[in-house]
Amino acid sequence: MKTLLLNNISDTKKNIKEWKKNGQTIGLVPTMGALHAGHASLIKKAKETCDKVVVSVFVNPIQFGPNEDYDKYPRTIEKDLKICEELGVNIVFAPSPNEMYGNGVKLSDTELTFVCPPYNLIDCMCGKSRPGHFDGVATVVLKLFNIVQPDFAFFGQKDAQQLFILKRMVHDLNLDLTIVPCPIVREKDGLALSSRNTYLSDEERKTALTISKSLNQIKILYNQGIKDTKKLFDAAISILDKSLELEYLEFRNADTFEDVQEINGTTLVAIAAKCGKTRLIDNEII
Ligand code: AMP
Repeated sequence: MKTLLLNNISDTKKNIKEWKKNGQTIGLVPTMGALHAGHASLIKKAKETCDKVVVSVFVNPIQFGPNEDYDKYPRTIEKDLKICEELGVNIVFAPSPNEMYGNGVKLSDTELTFVCPPYNLIDCMCGKSRPGHFDGVATVVLKLFNIVQPDFAFFGQKDAQQLFILKRMVHDLNLDLTIVPCPIVREKDGLALSSRNTYLSDEERKTALTISKSLNQIKILYNQGIKDTKKLFDAAISILDKSLELEYLEFRNADTFEDVQEINGTTLVAIAAKCGKTRLIDNEII
């Protein structure tokens, strides 16, 4: 089966309309491309769940801040297409920013309709250092949902805050689809796979590894009975390489996203740190 590479919205909708007419279920895997085994795990899950699978590849300008890596974000569409072909994806939807947002959209465009996620979900973790980021994410994902009309959409637990916000969007806006969360895929040594790992030098990669190690240490101590997040925080900091610039290490109730002092239920432990110029995120559920 040949994977169709489509760049325009109307051709994509046309194909999908045909599938819908035949009663086939549709799975969407939204990505920014530079596909790796983490993305592949989402695609495989989509293939198991749905009759037809659409992978979107779009580096979304409106979710990047002015000093972020929009321009240098890796773009590897030919390689991505090959991976999608091997995995049996039906359509790779790879629109240009122009196709998605119309002529002349700029990163700071104020003439666009945005989705604003609830303040309590964006006033923490990645939302703090990336103002407007989740508005941009929610907006593009809603657009993709409207274009592809999926029955199921697949997202990685790697972006835990994004996943939480998108689930809320689906609930709050009464969207008729199911979000399927997928576990974090890691390298053998524990480093969470990320398209941004390609920015890391060998030396930086070694220091980046202490991010997953520190989360692992929290898990070990928690399993030994330590529930005070201050103690767990300190233990994690002692493992993090000193050259990393910690942005946050937060403990959040996995169901409500509230800040946790003393762990007494399923808890998201989430971290963001800069390794050289590369911003990395990771998390564990304990
Ligand atoms: P991105 O291309 O980074 O926007 O990611 C697209 C989707 O892949 C998102 O739902 C991510 O959470 C997911 N993803 C990225 N890295 C991983 C990983 N290491 N394991 C599982 N899912 C991932």
